[in-house]
Amino acid sequence: MQIEFDRDTCIGMFQCVAEWDGFEKDEDAGKAVLLDGEEADSDTFVAEVPTDEELDAKFAARVCPVDAISVYDDDGERLVP
Ligand code: SF4
Repeated sequence: MQIEFDRDTCIGMFQCVAEWDGFEKDEDAGKAVLLDGEEADSDTFVAEVPTDEELDAKFAARVCPVDAISVYDDDGERLVP
């Protein structure tokens, strides 16, 4: 499973950080940080989600109020949102 984080859209409410350890706070920037994320596009980061963390990563995507986080299965099909 893959997670995609649109840092530009993020408004720094940090609900995602509470749901999954794959996100951290950048209080100075007012943005989340996708740990181990690779920049795929300008201000868009992607990372592989470990199998045992998939549920938490999906919750992180669900709670984001601005849909800055998307989750895809291994076939590239979007699962959340
Ligand atoms: S929940 Fe969404 S808006 Fe809030 S910090 Fe996480 S990615 Fe950014």
